[in-house]
Amino acid sequence: MSSELRLVWVYPDLLSTYGDRGNLLILARRAAARGLDVERVEVRADRPVPAGGDVYLLGGGEDGAQAHAAERLLADGGLGRAVDRGAVVFAVCAGYQLLGASFVAKGARRAGLGLLDAHSDRGPRRAVGELAGEVDAELDLPTPTGLEDHGGRTHLGLDARPLAKITLGTGNDGQTEGAWHGTVLGTYAHGPALARNPRLADLLLRWATGEALAPLDDAWPDRLRAERRTAARLTRRR
Ligand code: GLN
Repeated sequence: MSSELRLVWVYPDLLSTYGDRGNLLILARRAAARGLDVERVEVRADRPVPAGGDVYLLGGGEDGAQAHAAERLLADGGLGRAVDRGAVVFAVCAGYQLLGASFVAKGARRAGLGLLDAHSDRGPRRAVGELAGEVDAELDLPTPTGLEDHGGRTHLGLDARPLAKITLGTGNDGQTEGAWHGTVLGTYAHGPALARNPRLADLLLRWATGEALAPLDDAWPDRLRAERRTAARLTRRR
């Protein structure tokens, strides 16, 4: 069925901190509001990742869960096959780090999936608080906002473009936040990110469907964004 959209939430039992599952709910809701027939699939870590999804979502996680998730995903191979088919991936924090070539967790360097040209190490201190930036002009999105909470730092190679230049918070390394390449996009923003940044949700849907989407009444998300921007301004002044 051409209108069907399969959303795959990868490893809810390992990667789902700070309400990141909300990204799945927002995406499903915004797709359904455009008349798309949406199917939601939640894949626990003891199950194979189905190759036939349109959008794969990964959330944040503690270091141990993150290391375990990366091992399972590497052994499974389904996410890489889906990306080769052109599927969309949206990953947050631990999920974002494990898309890179490698990351550090529990004192050891671990292999990532190599789906983004990036590697992560540890920063001098945990980055916690409001996150904001100026997004890559090519993506044509308003200022992204989110909540970050991570010990890792991410360094991008030439094949990954930063999602945004940091105006508040730490993100990848104090300069940039997140990364994207093709239809794979990672960010440090919890929030959940797609509730705070509905136009980012719509960008993922456009990548997945190849169709321009009718605008929605975004009064509620706009209020949330305004509230979080105020919180960010107050943080900055402290
Ligand atoms: N374990 C990772 C870190 O601390 C990611 C944390 C998270 O997903 N919130 O950098």
